[in-house]
Amino acid sequence: MSVKVQEVSKLYGKQKALDNLSFEINQGEIVGFLGPNGAGKSTMMKIIAGYIPQTSGLVEVNGLDVSTDSLEIRKQIGYLPENNPLYQEMYVKEYLDHVASIYKLGKNKAKRIAEMIDLTGLGVEQNKKIASLSKGYRQRVGIAQALIHDPKVLILDEPTTGLDPNQLLEIRKLIQDIGREKTVMLSTHIMQEVEACCKRVLIVNKGKLVADRSIDFLAANKSAQRIDVEFSSEVSADLLQEINGVVEIDALGENRYCFVSKTDIRKEVFQFAVSKNLVILEMKTRSENLEDIFHQLTL
Ligand code: ADP
Repeated sequence: MSVKVQEVSKLYGKQKALDNLSFEINQGEIVGFLGPNGAGKSTMMKIIAGYIPQTSGLVEVNGLDVSTDSLEIRKQIGYLPENNPLYQEMYVKEYLDHVASIYKLGKNKAKRIAEMIDLTGLGVEQNKKIASLSKGYRQRVGIAQALIHDPKVLILDEPTTGLDPNQLLEIRKLIQDIGREKTVMLSTHIMQEVEACCKRVLIVNKGKLVADRSIDFLAANKSAQRIDVEFSSEVSADLLQEINGVVEIDALGENRYCFVSKTDIRKEVFQFAVSKNLVILEMKTRSENLEDIFHQLTL
């Protein structure tokens, strides 16, 4: 597992920015980290990247504890902070050279810088001052610096904020390409970004994790039906999988389940319940996409 966050809280003075957050990110996953402003996204990412300490809880990256192995972890993590603070007066290549020196890339340095310039499409701009670049190209420099030491895990804090639609598409494509080889955690408040780039989404609100869903689950919902069913007593999810046409089952707690299917399976659910002597107290359909889920969970 690449990132493990266990019961993490963060206090800024009396203010609780993170409240007992737990999640895991597996190797090779691209995970979207969604939440309204002030939800705690940047705080969580800074902690994972080893830039600030958590108040309590455990954070591990590739099995290393961020509290005690912060230096080693920085070698394994690439981090693009929010607002991408860059040395404006430096030239693109000079800046990447500077970052590469910090990571002590040695004789690989020149080759690695050239590779990053190529990967992020900075070729034409490589001899310009950072201050003179457009926002989209500055983001590319930010991503290039985050990747220069070939980290296994990439933490990108709002990488597409302020980009125009064309730049947005280009940076998203770049993130998708990078995600083929690396574990990526990406914060954003743009739903389409998560749908375009990520395999999974974590939603935070007021410092708490309020959802952890696979994008396949959400995609299934778009073209499919969603039915909430409440039974009168406990039923195992394994048993419910036997119902014809069920794509996925989400346990909602208190004997309630959500069934996702490609067609209307209310009849099948009802007949199944009768055949197994299960009593249905309530059954209702609903449509749901990522935006609906986000609004419901972050009000
Ligand atoms: P997000 O990235 O989701 O917008 P942040 O992690 O930046 O959220 O902030 C979470 C909460 O912590 C906010 O209420 C914010 O005001 C507060 N906060 C963030 N950084 C600091 C800080 N350095 N000092 C005090 N409060 C902070």
